[in-house]
Amino acid sequence: MVEKTHHDMKDKFRRSGYTLTAQRRAVLEALEGTQGHPSAEEVYLRVKKNNPRVALGTVYQALSVLEEIGVIGSKRWAESPTRYDLNTEHHLDVHCCSCGGVAEVPGVDIGDLEARVQENTPYEIKSTRLVIEGYCPGCQGKA
Ligand SMILES: [Zn+2]
Repeated sequence: MVEKTHHDMKDKFRRSGYTLTAQRRAVLEALEGTQGHPSAEEVYLRVKKNNPRVALGTVYQALSVLEEIGVIGSKRWAESPTRYDLNTEHHLDVHCCSCGGVAEVPGVDIGDLEARVQENTPYEIKSTRLVIEGYCPGCQGKA
C-alpha cells in the first residue's frame, strides 16, 4: 500500500471514530488487488478466498463504512450494481455497455471541472457523476 494513502486512511479512520477492523482491512486489501471497479459481490468473493467464513452482509457493511469515511468511492451505472473504488480522487471512468467492465481513464484531468461549474453557476457543487460509455477492446466488433 502506498505510504501516503495509508497515512491518509489512518487519519480518516481516526477522525471518523471507526476502527480499522480485520474485516474492513480484508475488504480494502481485496479492493487493492482488484483491477477495475469491483461490485460488492466481487469484493466478497475475493475476501472469501482468505476468510472463508465471511458473510456477504459483512462485506456490504464494511464497504458502506469505508465509503462513509471517504476511504473508498463508489459509482453506479444504470442496470449494474454499485462498484467500489480505492481511488477517491476525481477521475474519469469508462464503462463498457456490453460486458459491464469499468476502466479508469488515464490522462484526462477533470479535477477542476467542479470549480469551473461553480464559477459559472450560482450552485454550490456537491459531487459529480460522469458516465462515459463505449465498448471495451474485448467487446468491440461483437455487438
Ligand atoms: Zn466489454
